[in-house]
Amino acid sequence: MAKKVSVDVDAPILWPMCCARCGVNEGLTSSRVSIGSVRSVGPSPFGVQITSTMAMLDYPVCHAHATGLGFAGIVTRRTLLFRFLRGFIYFIAILGVPVFLMMAARAVGVASTPHNAQPSPMVFIAMFAAGIAAAAYLVHAFRALPVRLVGQSSDTVTIRFGNDAYAVKFIAQNRKSLREVPWWKKFVV
Ligand SMILES: [Zn+2]
Repeated sequence: MAKKVSVDVDAPILWPMCCARCGVNEGLTSSRVSIGSVRSVGPSPFGVQITSTMAMLDYPVCHAHATGLGFAGIVTRRTLLFRFLRGFIYFIAILGVPVFLMMAARAVGVASTPHNAQPSPMVFIAMFAAGIAAAAYLVHAFRALPVRLVGQSSDTVTIRFGNDAYAVKFIAQNRKSLREVPWWKKFVV
């Protein structure tokens, strides 16, 4: 079970000095996670003004586990744009899976090819293949990230830890900065 911890956004965070993934304490580097949210939408002299904030945290990981985390941290961001892109990718992948299953079934002769069937245009095949590959990558990225920012209120960020032992150390070191976030506050954008 992954642990979730909410901390005060303005408080200094003390990261346990070991890899957030495997716990080794040598050869550490840092990786960044971020979360963005729209804080307010209101009228302004220039039309509508949208205030958004981006919270960013750098946490320690060993070199072996740092590989690819920067990119994984970006594509798993909880911002509107990335949520939309991820939704689009999953949609394409879900459409693509039956297409490939059908092609495979026809290739091995389980399903027969209708006489008047047109071969699917390569561009669609390529798009479905790319969608499935991207969706598989996203699943991998979410699993690989040892630290993710999964929530934000006006004064807290919620951190999700993949490694329980690391979460326990983090909680012990940051007692003063921990916040209980009431459920209603999580709706504050
Ligand atoms: Zn590591």
